[in-house]
Amino acid sequence: MASLDNKVAYITGAASGIGKEIAIEFARAGAHIVVADLNKEAADATAAEIAKLGVKAIGVAVDVTNEEQVDASVQQAVAALGNIDVLISNAGIQIVHPVHEFSFADWKKMLAIHLDGAFLTTRACVKQMIASGKGGSIIYMGSVHSKEASLLKAPYVTAKHGLIGLAKTVAKEGAAHNIRANVICPGFVRTPLVEKQIPEQAKTLGISEQEVVKNVMLKETVDGEFTTTADVAQVALMFASFPTNALTGQSLVVSHGWFMQ
Ligand code: NAD
Repeated sequence: MASLDNKVAYITGAASGIGKEIAIEFARAGAHIVVADLNKEAADATAAEIAKLGVKAIGVAVDVTNEEQVDASVQQAVAALGNIDVLISNAGIQIVHPVHEFSFADWKKMLAIHLDGAFLTTRACVKQMIASGKGGSIIYMGSVHSKEASLLKAPYVTAKHGLIGLAKTVAKEGAAHNIRANVICPGFVRTPLVEKQIPEQAKTLGISEQEVVKNVMLKETVDGEFTTTADVAQVALMFASFPTNALTGQSLVVSHGWFMQ
C-alpha cells in the first residue's frame, strides 16, 4: 500500500461521503487528518473515528466559502499537526433545476462552494506548503461533469469544469515549490449528495426513481454500476503519494466508463 506516513492531509467535506472515505483511507496509509467541514459535530465524530486508527485527527468547523474561516482553520490545523502536505478540496453540494429556472442566488451559492472554496483552501494551503519548504499535493474533487454536461446542472457543470483550469494553473505555479495539483473526476457515487438527487430528478423529469438511476445516472457506464467511495479514495491515495512532478495538472475520470477520454 502507498504510504503517507506522518503526512498531514486537510480534507474539506470530510465528515461525509467521498471526503470521509478518503480521510479513513489516508489514515490507514499513516497520514494525520484534518476533517474540515461545515458540520462541526459530524467532523468531530469522524475525527474521533479516525484517531482510533492510530493517527492524529482533528475536526475543524469551516465554511469553505468564508475567507476568514478558511484561513483560520488552516492555521489551526498547522498549529495542531505541524504542517499541511495534502489538500483535498472536496466539499460540495448539488442543486438541480433547468437553467431558465435557476435563481441567481442558487447559481452563486453553487459557484461559491465549488470554486471560491477551492480557491480559498488552495491559497491558504499553498502558502503553508511554500513556507514549510516541503511542497505538497493538491487534489480537487471534480466530476465526470468536469468533462461532460447533464441536464439540470448548469452551475455544477460550470464549476466542475472550472476546477480543471484552477488545477492546471496551480500545477504550473506550484512546480517550483514541489507542489502538484490534480483533479479526480468520479461518476455517480451513492453518497447523501446523490441520494437527495434521485427523487428530485424523478420529479423534474417526470420519471420513476429507478429510471433516474438506470437511465440517467448509470446509462452510459460500461456495466450499470455506481462508482464507490473506495474507488475514489484509491485514486486520491495514488495522487497524494505520487513522488514527483511527473503527475501534475491532470484530471482522471473514475466512472465505470461513463466518460472515456
Ligand atoms: P456528501 O454530501 O456526502 O458530503 C459533502 C460534505 O461537504 C458534507 O459533509 C457537507 O457538510 C460538506 N459541506 C457542504 N458545504 C460545505 C461548505 N460550504 N463548507 C464546508 N463543508 C461543506 O457529498 P459527496 O457525494 O461525498 O461529495 C463530495 C464531493 O464529491 C463534492 O464536491 C461532489 O461534487 C463530488 N462528487 C460527488 C459525486 C457523487 O456522485 N456523489 C460524483 C462526482 C463528484
